[in-house]
Amino acid sequence: MTTNGRAQQPNRATRLRWLLDRDGHTCIWCGREFSSVRIPTTDHLVPRVKGGPSWLENEVAACRRCNRTRGHISPVDWLADCERRGWRPDADRVLRALTAFADAVLERGGQRRARPYLQAQLRRMRRRTSAA
Ligand SMILES: [Zn+2]
Repeated sequence: MTTNGRAQQPNRATRLRWLLDRDGHTCIWCGREFSSVRIPTTDHLVPRVKGGPSWLENEVAACRRCNRTRGHISPVDWLADCERRGWRPDADRVLRALTAFADAVLERGGQRRARPYLQAQLRRMRRRTSAA
């Protein structure tokens, strides 16, 4: 992969494999293990409608149910929602991924729409972590 944000990203199947290698074979939102009946999907941390790019750094692996149920809800709101539902979301993974995405944006530039959204999410996520 190059550091040029406009460079072509690997296709979705390749990205998904890479995400599973990076994060393990569990859904970030419910913690359940992926299987032939619980198929992993790529979920955008910063939703596409908020300008989030299909970069590996903006993607996490989520099961179809969680991905679909989340819709365009922000990652921090959705994380709290998952906890209210009694699921076991991986808050550390969310913070790690948001941080890596922010680093990638700094390095590559651009993403003017996603940037303020991402920064607000990171601030909320760090507050959340320090309050815990
Ligand atoms: Zn899930």
